[in-house]
Amino acid sequence: MSSGLVIKDLVAGIEGRQILKGISLEVPKGEVTAVMGPNGSGKSTLSNVIMGRGSYRVDSGSVSLEGKELLGLATHERAREGLFLISQYPSELPGVTMEEMLEAALESRGESADKLGSEIDEQAGLVGFPERLWGRFVNVDLSGGEKKRSEVVQMAIVKPKYAILDEIDSGLDIDALRAVSRRVREIADSTGAGVLVITHYARLLKELRPEKVLVLSEGTIKATGDIGLALELEKTGYQEYREAKPEETGPSLQDIFGSGR
Ligand code: ADP
Ligand code: MG
Repeated sequence: MSSGLVIKDLVAGIEGRQILKGISLEVPKGEVTAVMGPNGSGKSTLSNVIMGRGSYRVDSGSVSLEGKELLGLATHERAREGLFLISQYPSELPGVTMEEMLEAALESRGESADKLGSEIDEQAGLVGFPERLWGRFVNVDLSGGEKKRSEVVQMAIVKPKYAILDEIDSGLDIDALRAVSRRVREIADSTGAGVLVITHYARLLKELRPEKVLVLSEGTIKATGDIGLALELEKTGYQEYREAKPEETGPSLQDIFGSGR
């Protein structure tokens, strides 16, 4: 039985278009795996397909969590198996407070929600979100960066077995980024959670210290390495991982002026 969150030969997309063209990767327990890639490469599609969100079609492949197949399960069932997604664009839940939502999440697993209010306060403080978060509606009237911090608070309390963080750096300034990445690393280390972090910037990876870095481009994994790969990408960009398309490269000077012969 394979352990960890294991994605194998995953092919998925929308009606009429393949976006993920055969993705295989593993997120081991207690480790941070980073997936980097340019905009439009399929990163959010990958996170949504793993969590079972959105209307994506899975053509083939498998997503399993500690040996249990997840494809075919509803999103809430995947959550009950221990999967957690911080989406690129976190949903607002008007009318539902943080405390109510987390209480429901804990109780669905038969855990006590006593002291939840003070726990939320404590966790909020650790990511620099000092206001009384628990009484507020989930993600309503929060800035992009505040939503991400609020989701990290949820993650700390829910203690998922595996978490996917999609572009958690968007909307965060450099200090917030440092606080949030450090906190995520601490959660992985202290709870043994496996974390899949998705980003197109290397900057958040310095604090997160991923064990593995993968490059996703045009729906396939193009390279695998460690933090060194991320730092290199910061200098070189993703150009070498893109297939040059004629419409992108444009005509060459030779095409325009001829070879001179
Ligand atoms: P990334 O997160 O790497 O920027 P996405 O996974 O969001 O990339 O998108 C990959 C490609 O698939 C893009 O061209 C995007 O427009 C398209 N796409 C993603 N989701 C949908 C959807 N629900 N409907 C139509 N097109 C989509
Ligand atoms: Mg995205």
